[in-house]
Amino acid sequence: MNVIVRDRAGLSYISPDATQPWANFLEQIDRVTPHLGDLARWSDTLKRPKRTMIVDVPIVRDDGTIAHYEGYRVQHTLSRGPGKGGVRFHPDVTLNEVMGLAGWMTIKNAALNLPYGGAKGGVRIDPRHHSIDELQRVTRRYTSEIGNFIGPNRDIPAPDVGTNEQTMAWMMDTYSMNVGGTTTGVVTGKPLSLGGSLGRREATGRGVFITARETARRSGIPIEASRVAVQGFGNVGGTAAAMFQAAGAKIVALQDDSATIIDEAGIDVTKALAYTEQHSRLAGYAPDKTASNEEFWQIATDFVIPAAMEGQIDARRAATLPTRIVVEGANGPTTPGADDVLRDRGIIVVPDVLANAGGVTVSYFEWVQDFSSFFWTEEEINARLEQIMIGAFDAIWTLADDRGVSLRTAAFIIACQRVLAARQRRGLYP
Ligand code: GLU
Repeated sequence: MNVIVRDRAGLSYISPDATQPWANFLEQIDRVTPHLGDLARWSDTLKRPKRTMIVDVPIVRDDGTIAHYEGYRVQHTLSRGPGKGGVRFHPDVTLNEVMGLAGWMTIKNAALNLPYGGAKGGVRIDPRHHSIDELQRVTRRYTSEIGNFIGPNRDIPAPDVGTNEQTMAWMMDTYSMNVGGTTTGVVTGKPLSLGGSLGRREATGRGVFITARETARRSGIPIEASRVAVQGFGNVGGTAAAMFQAAGAKIVALQDDSATIIDEAGIDVTKALAYTEQHSRLAGYAPDKTASNEEFWQIATDFVIPAAMEGQIDARRAATLPTRIVVEGANGPTTPGADDVLRDRGIIVVPDVLANAGGVTVSYFEWVQDFSSFFWTEEEINARLEQIMIGAFDAIWTLADDRGVSLRTAAFIIACQRVLAARQRRGLYP
């Protein structure tokens, strides 16, 4: 539910109920504001998305009936460059959620120093209950509805939960047909045959692993023989789990929205991936190792990788979570209340705006390659990804150490300073 709240100056803005992403984002902005010095004067700008769209997406279904879906695109800030962020197809998508996700894209892009603002989109639809033809119609109509506000220099969508390379191909084609010329740079995460980039599909999971490895190095916890639990076994969780396993870690727990698997002897990620490739869900894999949802949060580990949805680690779960490092593959999986509890317990949280930024970083490479029509090798892409992520990681880790703040607050300090400095330099128009 949306409630209107009034701030100190008596100005109102939308605040969803406290369990929702936008409320969590607002709280994170409040927490960073005292660290922003003179720029704090501009910080309210981050509490009001620049542009918020709700669009009706009607289609004729395969059975001839007409159905309407609600679609969104939120451009949270455009101060440092065009909007950038994924499009989510999920039955729980709401405006509040998309606002929060767009805010986190602003922070993520700025923390990594990518030349973008922050944006996010979504359609409230369950893609699993629709044919490929229906999904194509939804995607094309949604793209047309937001078409005047996206573009290679305006706002560049990408995949997120429930969307993929095919969705991006349809978005690129629809936009291109509407403007009258092939425009590959309007979306990223495209198939290789349409100006996509090598390494994009694995990039988010790869970035999760890179930041976990760097955290492990600094805290003296070896990845080899470590115990790891991964929630979400899609593009992000699947790649991260495979990379942990390849580095000698033991994946003791896996969870998706269909099942929880716990195996003290270690789950064979390669086999589990082959299974989900075929069945599109974990349910049915290793039935004798199936556990309850809650048991996932009770198994002793060195690393927990939430790589599914928001709000998974709340203060209650944080109070007992038996782990040492949380690496946020998902966006917004830890609530601000849980952050405090984990910090008090000495558990390191590698925040989403850093840990899962590998995806948008290789999206940036894709966009650059599309502009120059010159494509890089996978080695070049992975080397540049390592370089950017390690650079951002070092800066955030050092600042957190210097100021005695969490990695999340440090990432927000760096990002908000960049966004607000740009805002201040540009000035208010008129
Ligand atoms: N949806 C991804 C994210 O949350 C990628 C966004 C992008 O590549 O623009 O970071």
